[in-house]
Amino acid sequence: MSELYQKIEKVLSSKYISEDLNVRHAYSRNVDPILQGIPDIIVRPKDANEISEVLKIANENNQPVYIRGGGDCEFGGSKPIGDNGILLDMKRMNNILNLDRDNLIITVEAGISWGKVNDYLADFGLYTGCMGPGSGMTASIGGGISHHSVGGGGCAKYGACTNQLVSLEVVLPKGDIIETGSQANKFSKNPFNRFGNGPDLAGLFCGDNGILGVKTKISLQIFPKPKFANYKTFLLGRKSAEVSSEIFSDIRYRGIEVYDAMYIMDLLVNVGCQQGLFPMWDSLKRKRGIFFYTVQANTENELEEKTKQLDEIILNKKKVEELGTEISEGNFAKWHYVEQGHWQTYHNLWGLYPALEPLTAECFTPINTYPSILADLDQWDIENNEDIQKITEITGVRPITGSGPILLIDGSNVELTCGFTSFGPYYNGEYHEIIEEINLKLWKSVLERVTKHGVQWYMMGDMMSRMMVEIGAYPENFYEFMKSIKKTLDPNSILGRGKFHFGGS
Ligand SMILES: Cc1cc2nc3c(=O)[nH]c(=O)nc-3n(C[C@H](O)[C@H](O)[C@H](O)COP(=O)(O)OP(=O)(O)OC[C@H]3O[C@@H](n4cnc5c(N)ncnc54)[C@H](O)[C@@H]3O)c2cc1C
Repeated sequence: MSELYQKIEKVLSSKYISEDLNVRHAYSRNVDPILQGIPDIIVRPKDANEISEVLKIANENNQPVYIRGGGDCEFGGSKPIGDNGILLDMKRMNNILNLDRDNLIITVEAGISWGKVNDYLADFGLYTGCMGPGSGMTASIGGGISHHSVGGGGCAKYGACTNQLVSLEVVLPKGDIIETGSQANKFSKNPFNRFGNGPDLAGLFCGDNGILGVKTKISLQIFPKPKFANYKTFLLGRKSAEVSSEIFSDIRYRGIEVYDAMYIMDLLVNVGCQQGLFPMWDSLKRKRGIFFYTVQANTENELEEKTKQLDEIILNKKKVEELGTEISEGNFAKWHYVEQGHWQTYHNLWGLYPALEPLTAECFTPINTYPSILADLDQWDIENNEDIQKITEITGVRPITGSGPILLIDGSNVELTCGFTSFGPYYNGEYHEIIEEINLKLWKSVLERVTKHGVQWYMMGDMMSRMMVEIGAYPENFYEFMKSIKKTLDPNSILGRGKFHFGGS
């Protein structure tokens, strides 16, 4: 046992600490096929006090600490940068602490998944509104708040999950424990409001990608699930990206409250059908872009009126065709809402081609910008064909450039998932590590290209947090301000060392 292990063993039972090489390797990756960082030690705390003691030990021993919730970050954020450090696995902290039904607030431990919280709430006819990310069956509430996650359902109506944050308990990098919002008044019994008692300090930790503190307790606003819902899916005509963007804008312009609205590009519909992902569209003669919406209401009349207004917008566009009402007739929207498809769509997409992994560029951008970003990605693919072909020659399969589903989110913005899918290091009698090198080069190139469209990154992890600095995308004063906050809270750069190029290499 290392000296570090022996120190941590004084805080937690040895059952929840591991230096085993197999376990360390199991925690060395997220979902991308490139980035790896093997932690020295894994710690699975049960509460804020244990985390506080571990962070004090980390500071005394100059050890970086990387926080992992569900481990679903696509940019390597929940594994070490380099082979080092303490990996804090939050998944033991998965309890529901309080349901305040009168005030519609739930308080949970940060390691609990969106799936588990919503399963519990469903018994009371309640839900979290924004259902977190599309990975919500495994991803944690703490990870979602650390990313401003959005996309797992309900995001056109409720926006990103950080919108419904009421209060946080956070262990600061030096080990102090604070609570925010209404809980900054020690006489407050239960969390009830985020804003007040001074500045919005909860906001500091929203989207921090695990560098400013460890979220341990999270209170969220929750909502009664409306009794009525309608869900429709449409096949679009030509130029489906442009048309879908017009539909999104029209919906916002006319102020119609939709729960979800999604566009799936032609290429994905085609490839997805070939790969057996979308059996409901197999029989479509023209496999063009798909658009769907889900709308909720408290009465049948309200539902009817909203549906009428939405259909008017969509069916007014050229060559749009409404698909049947049942899932088997093409109604993807019904599957998404009724059959929990909102938490399955992306898992299926990640497995689109066995062994191929997406190298994503997942970001927020205004509705009217994504058609030109997608067109530029086509151009990027042509410009990088030589490198892409090198992978094709080895594997026999050409990496695919394009976008995943595009979702209407807060305001007039969409969540744009784009990028390309590729292999990890490939073995066919010999290892082709060159693929990893090309992947990294291409991934950086696509991220830089998309950044220059002025998009906003929310999940930044290892890759994007460092890229923003490397390509000079942060205005100097903003970066210096962020650096000074980091230094004040975490002078030894313990938490997420290396992210945003704070501390480390
Ligand atoms: C199939 C699939 C679908 C996805 N769909 C979406 C989507 O629709 N929308 C979306 O936003 N993202 C999506 N993602 C990305 C990712 O799953 C989400 O962003 C998710 O919210 C991450 O949660 P997690 O618990 O897995 O966090 P992790 O990956 O474990 O961590 C994410 C970041 O937060 C930090 N962190 C985690 N827990 C804490 C904590 N308690 N305190 C402080 N910092 C913490 C970590 O250090 C890391 O930087 C998807 C990923 C996959 C694989």
